[in-house]
Amino acid sequence: MKSHAKAVVIGGGVVGCSVLYHLAKAGWTDIMLIERSELTSGSSWHAAGGFHTLNGDPNVAKLQAYTVQLYREIEELSGQSCSLHLTGGVMMADTPERMDFLRLAHAKGRYLGMDTELITPSEAKAMFPLMDETNFVGAMWDPVEGHLDPSGTTHAYAKAARKLGAEIVLRNRVVELTQEVDGTWNVVTEQGTAKAEHVVNCGGLWAREIGRMVGVELPLLAMEHMYLLTEPMPEVEEFNKSTGREMIGVLDFKGEIYTRQERNGILLGTYEKACKPWSPVNTPWDFGHELLQPDIDRIAPSLEIGFKHFPGIEKAGIKQIINGPFTFALDGNPLVGPVQGLTNFWCACAVMAGFSQGGGVGLALSNWMVHGDPGFDVWGMDVARFGEWATLRYTNAKVRENYSRRFSIRFPNEELPAARPAQTTPLYDTMLANNAVMGDSWGLETPLWFAPKGTEPKDIVSFHRSNDFGPIGEEVRATREKVGVTEIANFAKYEVSGPGSEDFLNRLMTNRMPKTGRIVLTPMLNEFGRLIGDFTIAKAGEERFMIWSSSAAQKYHMRWFEKHLPKEGPGAPQVRIHRFDQTLVGLSIAGPKSRDLLQKLVDVDISTKTFRFMDFREMAVGGAPCMVNRITYTGDLGYEIWMAPAYQRLVYKAIKDAGEEFGLVDFGMRALLSMRLEKNFPTWFRELRPIYGPFEGAMDRFVKLEKNDFIGREAAAREQSEGPKLRRVSFIVDAADADVMGDEPIWAKVGGKDSGTVEKPHGYGAPRFDTDGKQVRGSRAAEGASAVRGIVDGDWRVVGWVTSGGYAHYIRKSMAQGYVPAALAGDESAGLFEIEILGSRRPARINVEPPFDPSGEKMRA
Ligand SMILES: Cc1cc2nc3c(=O)[nH]c(=O)nc-3n(C[C@H](O)[C@H](O)[C@H](O)COP(=O)(O)OP(=O)(O)OC[C@H]3O[C@@H](n4cnc5c(N)ncnc54)[C@H](O)[C@@H]3O)c2cc1C
Repeated sequence: MKSHAKAVVIGGGVVGCSVLYHLAKAGWTDIMLIERSELTSGSSWHAAGGFHTLNGDPNVAKLQAYTVQLYREIEELSGQSCSLHLTGGVMMADTPERMDFLRLAHAKGRYLGMDTELITPSEAKAMFPLMDETNFVGAMWDPVEGHLDPSGTTHAYAKAARKLGAEIVLRNRVVELTQEVDGTWNVVTEQGTAKAEHVVNCGGLWAREIGRMVGVELPLLAMEHMYLLTEPMPEVEEFNKSTGREMIGVLDFKGEIYTRQERNGILLGTYEKACKPWSPVNTPWDFGHELLQPDIDRIAPSLEIGFKHFPGIEKAGIKQIINGPFTFALDGNPLVGPVQGLTNFWCACAVMAGFSQGGGVGLALSNWMVHGDPGFDVWGMDVARFGEWATLRYTNAKVRENYSRRFSIRFPNEELPAARPAQTTPLYDTMLANNAVMGDSWGLETPLWFAPKGTEPKDIVSFHRSNDFGPIGEEVRATREKVGVTEIANFAKYEVSGPGSEDFLNRLMTNRMPKTGRIVLTPMLNEFGRLIGDFTIAKAGEERFMIWSSSAAQKYHMRWFEKHLPKEGPGAPQVRIHRFDQTLVGLSIAGPKSRDLLQKLVDVDISTKTFRFMDFREMAVGGAPCMVNRITYTGDLGYEIWMAPAYQRLVYKAIKDAGEEFGLVDFGMRALLSMRLEKNFPTWFRELRPIYGPFEGAMDRFVKLEKNDFIGREAAAREQSEGPKLRRVSFIVDAADADVMGDEPIWAKVGGKDSGTVEKPHGYGAPRFDTDGKQVRGSRAAEGASAVRGIVDGDWRVVGWVTSGGYAHYIRKSMAQGYVPAALAGDESAGLFEIEILGSRRPARINVEPPFDPSGEKMRA
């Protein structure tokens, strides 16, 4: 083992070997992988080896597609076969709801360049004759599915990495990690200590233990997973002989099973409801190449359905049952990236589908380590997406829920119950007493909507409009016409203070910092001029700024802030950042009567002239010390009121008591999101994401290119001078009884005209390896954009995608936001656009000006 390496990768499973290969390919050859035992000694060796491209997050789906196409490359370079079987596969729908789900997945696939196809059960049966097709109503075919040899594939990555100069050390456990003052890591192993600039945790089943070596509790848990292998089956042999083809892979949602051909028989695995965690607290170091005891009773309910749906399999004898553990994060996606609060400590763990995702994870992480940026929108697998609330027990409950629901439909209005309530504000019981339907907002219970008195506060889950539709409409109308109050504790809140704070924020943000007592809205960009944040900033004092943003991005943003803090040392500007999380909570009041209401609760003049739109003041509200912003996300006259949790009940009661005479109502997060739609306001992580530039995102007025050399300025200036390729727009949609949910294709009637063929950006201009596997730099192709496949239907073609939408209750219209080619963005003609909702194309029209209060006079009143 060498004594020094630029990077040490801990763990020789498929993920560690992929990370090693990608780092070497990116030019870091002074790297070393350290494996406790032999390669594949965690979960990799006993995997079923299946792979597919589909994922609920289109960005993760894209990285899965990259993984699949990478196998040929590593086979060639290493000379080691992965035993690829690219058979294709089908997902079977047993109900109309499941078919709606497949239609949605198929629609998303349109702009991702996926070749999926909706087919009939009989067509599926022709490719997998062991099924009884009468159990199903339809199916979706995906040609990029198959299976491989897990051990061969892991070794192919390892051999390819070695060929590029990487070193692999086997039978050597990493026992401790310490860090020198200069940031160098001491990787203490059974064979001695190696110094490393970077450490990567690819510990798979032991990733938690490696995290604990540096004081981090990673939110992941191993679950037992079973699949069975049948004896050879004459039906399989007969099919192979008569068609010259292998049988395809089949996923049966109802049975929670996946099945495919394995040699001359069948492999069938389950994601059973009665799932079981493995080693929930500590993973034993002496666990290795052994399997767990099968428990057929646990999977019996799934097998019963499986045998009914696939009677051909029931007749076959079972040769072997494999039961092995592998790890999951709370939402089933990997944990990748630098860990906030540490320097040069990286994660690539909780990769539950190492053979679908391992390549993409390795690519993104190596880009991040070598070039300072993953090069893609990897939010869906960023290790920063979970907060401190994701403790060991919370993780245990959520992972079990996720596993047992792996093949269940997640409806757009569905809130999942496990590990809740976790965090609550002081108003939690009051909100329940008010008949609130609560939702989970980054681990915090937040009112979504208020059910009418006497009815059960519960969502009826659906892809269509549901039981919340009427009550949300009431909340919106009462707020817009009189006044409403809502909890906003779920926003992120920070304080940046110290003599260097203004310069620091000016360097990070695209907008000018406000004067004392004023507020600005500002995006934040990365070096490539892509959106990585959207903030409300108030100057609270000479050297003190209050900042609000999206709660889910708290760790993501803290990581960025910490990375860009001025270096400490004599004479260095001092900047302190404090993240409040739930030590600061809030209430928002909005609507034409909100000023009259607030005036009753404060002892200062808040008339228009003294407390203007976008003003910030510290004042007592109902007797409690508060910070008040004259701004609201509803786009109405309104206020955000921030206080310590100890005062929240006092302020809420004061608002309720004083509000009675004005017809005050409670409104929830869903009404708030409905109201922002009719103001064309974007949301972070839907409209605004790191794949879009600020001009694409229509954030022009918040970008002051001339102010200073802020991060991303050069790229933003280029975007502006060349003109954005895409543009965020708002649509009014002629919907039926379902509204858009996000990711639906946007069609335009452009005939033979060049509409400036739209591309779904997936990555951006970081110098890096592209998903094509070539080293690329700078060009548009290098930006990882994937051209929308020529989806054409007569004069119509797919030109864009929806980011979010819903019903705008005040204007009583269905609305959507999304991206289209910039050339089409100002065209409000009727008949030009259609948006696909649940497989049906609905007329849509761009609405350049917000339909509610287009001049903003109500907001400024
Ligand atoms: C029954 C079953 C079926 C599956 N089927 C599929 C499938 O069909 N398709 C699919 O894509 N995935 C499947 N999986 C999941 C797949 O196996 C995992 O996604 C994958 O193995 C994760 O790889 P990894 O490299 O992250 O972790 P692991 O394979 O667990 O590797 C981690 C490695 O780190 C080493 N290590 C840990 N700590 C240390 C230390 N301190 N020092 C040195 N070395 C250390 C371990 O020895 C181990 O070799 C299946 C899993 C199981 C159990």
